[in-house]
Amino acid sequence: MTQDYKPRTKLVHGGTRRSQYNEVSEAIFMTQGFVYDTAEQAEARFEETGPDEFIYARYGNPTVAMFEDRIAQLEGAEAAFATASGMAAVNNALLSQVKAGDHVVASRALFGSCLFILEKVLVPFGVELTQVDGTDLEAWKAAIREETKLVFFETTSNPTLEVVDIKAVSEMAHAVGALVVCDNVFATPVYSRAIELGADVVVYSATKHIDGQGRALGGVVLGSEDFINGPFFNYSKHTGAAISPFNAWLMLKGLETIDLRVRAQTESSEKIAEAFHQHPKLSRMIYPGHRSHPQYDLVQRQTGKGGTVIAIDLAGGQEAAFRFLNAVNVGVISNNLGDAKSILTHPATTTHSSLTEEARQKLGITRGLVRISVGLEDAEDLVTDWLAALELA
Ligand SMILES: *Cc1c(COP(=O)(O)O)cnc(C)c1O
Repeated sequence: MTQDYKPRTKLVHGGTRRSQYNEVSEAIFMTQGFVYDTAEQAEARFEETGPDEFIYARYGNPTVAMFEDRIAQLEGAEAAFATASGMAAVNNALLSQVKAGDHVVASRALFGSCLFILEKVLVPFGVELTQVDGTDLEAWKAAIREETKLVFFETTSNPTLEVVDIKAVSEMAHAVGALVVCDNVFATPVYSRAIELGADVVVYSATKHIDGQGRALGGVVLGSEDFINGPFFNYSKHTGAAISPFNAWLMLKGLETIDLRVRAQTESSEKIAEAFHQHPKLSRMIYPGHRSHPQYDLVQRQTGKGGTVIAIDLAGGQEAAFRFLNAVNVGVISNNLGDAKSILTHPATTTHSSLTEEARQKLGITRGLVRISVGLEDAEDLVTDWLAALELA
């Protein structure tokens, strides 16, 4: 499908490969390998693999390729490689690019497992790491230097929803020839302009909005042909974090509805943020799409929308947060996000419980903080139920 079609058209038809049966719904090629007509054909394919030729599912598979092509078309990337989870995508994107002695700059506010890869894998292997406040362009400027090889950040951080200026940081990184890798989960593929703004590599946990229905783990790395088919592909195909064709099919079908889902969830988030704004039980309400967010102007320029996640800080601390969570009827207490079901999380005691109290303080993850992933329920039901739950907190 050519690049001329609008996103919603690409999301439904992009990347489709039909078998000899001309099926309407994309086929699940649940196979690890592929048969060659002759020994010569096998030899030729190992020498050079064409775009619709496959060898082994660890390297590629037709269902997986449909998902990769569809998301690449949406993101405006030349190529994509799907992985078994979002963390496999981050791991492959980082470990395939750096070696001992290289310098990496990353924002401090990151998903715990991303921090693990940087601090507990790369650093012990001899990579030098500088961590900065992702919202502070002066800090990025001071940290990025001649020998910096790679820059990594979450475009919107989890769970305090700080936004990194992709364009400004990419310009600084490119001035020294560093590669810009961004984890773009919170921006979502629907609102992302990461590549257009200068990011070289975009990573998604497909587990979140791409599946959007809490069914499977998956991830995807997007970038130029040279990046995806270069050392990154060698690292990925040999280390084995390939996505299952079945899970890739779930993600492929998830893409067909992602635009409708994410826009509806964002619209509800805007209403809920307005209802929470300056609520007496809250010491903070953080939503990148609300005018009270300190980076509201940047958000308007970068994605135009605040996305599907809101964070609230209950003035009464952990006890109040727990009373609120336990009083909620519409939505579930869990730790995924981007799901059709609203999901409420207490980061300090769950997703970020492995951090020290001091580290949490630094990241603004207080005892009263609740992360809310807004689902597809009726917005009026959500507002009514959650305001009632706040009264009981
Ligand atoms: C969930 C998440 C990941 C990890 O994805 P998995 O699919 O759970 O491995 C990475 N980064 C961010 C920002 C996430 O929210």
